[in-house]
Amino acid sequence: MGEWSQFFEDFPEENPANYVGGVFNPQEAKKIRELQQKQETASRAATSEVNAMIAKAKKDTKARSLLLVEDCPQCGLKELNTYKISDKFYLCECQDCGIYGKGVNHEQALKHTSDAIGEFKDWREGSEF
Ligand SMILES: [Zn+2]
Repeated sequence: MGEWSQFFEDFPEENPANYVGGVFNPQEAKKIRELQQKQETASRAATSEVNAMIAKAKKDTKARSLLLVEDCPQCGLKELNTYKISDKFYLCECQDCGIYGKGVNHEQALKHTSDAIGEFKDWREGSEF
């Protein structure tokens, strides 16, 4: 890699990155590369902003819909939150070990959570909600 960059420094016309539309133009090629980099940075920032907004909206919804906290079937700690997101969407999430499950009622959500023991699911890495 180092050898190549040294070579391209000595013979810039041999570097394909210095061509724009088939014409040797290192200044223009550099400008385009910088512009592309700026666009990528901007789009990454926009994506993470949207993701942060979604994460916040979900967090707010959960805070509003916390139904009860009980013992987690997996880790045994009293860290299992059950949320009633809507009339037919109950969600259990352990704040400690991360196990989760959903159902149309609390009972079913809890059962699906228990069924997931040993699967090492963690809602923080992608939940049902
Ligand atoms: Zn747990």
